[in-house]
Amino acid sequence: MKSNIYLNGKIVPLSEAKIPILDRGFLYGDGVFESLRTYNRIPFLLDEHSKRILSGAKFLKIHSNFNLKTIRSAVQKTISANPFKEIYLKIILTRGKAKSHGLDFSNFTGKPNLIVLAEELKESPKEIYSNGWKAILSSIRRVNQPTSKIKSLCYLDNAIAKEEAKQAGANEALMLDEKGFVAEGSVSNLFMVRAGKIFTPPTSSAILSGITRRLIIKLAKELSLKVFEKNIHSKDLLTGDECFATLSGTGIIPIIRIGKKNIGNQQCGPITRKLISSYFELVSAVTGIEKESLIN
Ligand code: PMP
Repeated sequence: MKSNIYLNGKIVPLSEAKIPILDRGFLYGDGVFESLRTYNRIPFLLDEHSKRILSGAKFLKIHSNFNLKTIRSAVQKTISANPFKEIYLKIILTRGKAKSHGLDFSNFTGKPNLIVLAEELKESPKEIYSNGWKAILSSIRRVNQPTSKIKSLCYLDNAIAKEEAKQAGANEALMLDEKGFVAEGSVSNLFMVRAGKIFTPPTSSAILSGITRRLIIKLAKELSLKVFEKNIHSKDLLTGDECFATLSGTGIIPIIRIGKKNIGNQQCGPITRKLISSYFELVSAVTGIEKESLIN
């Protein structure tokens, strides 16, 4: 189905939307993005995504007049301009058009671009919440540096990792850091459960500070579960009782196999199940959708 998008204040058909070929987002990946979804056409955790894109832009010294209000309004206009039952949204902010060649941040003219893409959301089959994902250990290393912590438009490492997963018949590729600790998946944060305790790499490691990660930590604490933000060695990950991934698109997904190693008894473990239940309780409270229909 055709979609309409937001491009610098205007709603335009995707097929007619244009930005200059000299845009630094295109030349250098010089910009940031966010992906989120709607439930009942309500953009889930929009403020959190808006704050993260603005802080990424601030880190890259992309100076614009965009603020929380601008982004909220751009997303709402995009949703209103599309007929889909549920929408996958991608917010993109680029530095703007280069004057000529040259990497430095001052090589641009005009204003930054704010774009919101919309696409009909294809729901994942609900079985993923019980059957889970298969993962592999990627050959790509996540280096602990600022670009690993923002959603920059340079997502090639993640794309290569994801392709490795696909070639191996898996759903997600887990990237280690330089020291052999697990960092994150190509599109998700990672958690492990051992002896009833939950472990996840800290935000000081080479990870994106995931919005779903933060929410799951909060929900786990509300359930009186113990959460430790600690580095996890890949060897320990493979011998955990449960493992799960978190991401905005689908929330929380059990990982039942990593490479050739089964995790737990190859199905969603009890703590992961509790967290899936709490997560969708919250989605239900925010959006008015019945919880059971979200999971089953
Ligand atoms: N890590 C990476 C590399 C990601 O691309 C994503 C998806 N945005 C995540 C983690 C999960 O973050 P969030 O829960 O904010 O979607």
